[in-house]
Amino acid sequence: MTSPLPQNRFLAIGECMAELSPTAQDGEYRLGFAGDAFNTSWYLARLSPDTDVSFLTAIGDDSLSRQMMDLFAQSGIKENYVQHLENQTIGMYMISLQNGERSFHYWRGQSAAKKLADDPQKLATAFSENDVIYFSGITLAILPDKSRQGFLAALKTAKEAGKTIVFDPNLRPRLWETADAMTSAIMQGAAVSTIVLPSFEDEAEWFHDENPMATLNRYKALGIPTVIVKNGPDPVLFEHNGHSGEYPVAPITEVTDTTAAGDSFNAGFLARFGSGDIEWAIKGGAELAARVVQSRGALVAKATEMD
Ligand code: ADP
Repeated sequence: MTSPLPQNRFLAIGECMAELSPTAQDGEYRLGFAGDAFNTSWYLARLSPDTDVSFLTAIGDDSLSRQMMDLFAQSGIKENYVQHLENQTIGMYMISLQNGERSFHYWRGQSAAKKLADDPQKLATAFSENDVIYFSGITLAILPDKSRQGFLAALKTAKEAGKTIVFDPNLRPRLWETADAMTSAIMQGAAVSTIVLPSFEDEAEWFHDENPMATLNRYKALGIPTVIVKNGPDPVLFEHNGHSGEYPVAPITEVTDTTAAGDSFNAGFLARFGSGDIEWAIKGGAELAARVVQSRGALVAKATEMD
């Protein structure tokens, strides 16, 4: 006898990296872990204790990979879809601060996460066992061409089976060989999704959209039922099952660090999406993101404790 699957099983797919961030002590760095789809999972697990949150990735068998799994366990993120690969390790980035300006240095070329979609059977099983599947343009960017095509095909099958497929385009030109390769893969990712969550500033630069409505229309033309265009402090533009509108974002007097603004917005939005009230869901995203940008770092625990 098979037991019924619990409702509301959320699966994110992507790369979580080790993060070295500067402390107040000159020359000292703190070890943490972050990554776009992971950040969204982390916030969602805190906001929705009843949601079963899992993260599909590939890691190594070294102590750094194990420390990352400790964070998963502490954060309530299930690791049953994490592949442990021999003699591999995870990607890393370091944040350096110079005259108050942050810059990022990456070591992710050899990251085990590039292999996360190598086994089509594992993907198919993971997708069939979950209700909501979340990925981003960075998930697509780190995959070799062949596994990216397999990954998109598996998502298409999951969409046809009625799963909710959520995509944040998160454009990162540095991870792609050419801008055309990036924009073409992003549109393929959107085409297999049911919810697309772009940020206007990036889309304007790489797709030459003149305004947020152009971004909305470009994704809507693919037949996607829900498109939410984030735009920093400006109103969020939305289209949901044929109903469209704008949602104003409450102003903030002091922005401290915009890291994970979009990732946390997505979690706040998804935590309320099941209600069917799209404006209430957007409000949830905007309120969480507002708290996150008023603190330093990607994972801001206190931002989820104020409701
Ligand atoms: P990304 O991090 O993907 O570039 P955005 O900059 O578009 O994302 O921001 C995502 C969300 O974060 C916005 O829709 C908004 O709710 C919130 N946000 C970001 N910057 C600000 C700001 N300066 N003031 C108020 N809210 C902000």
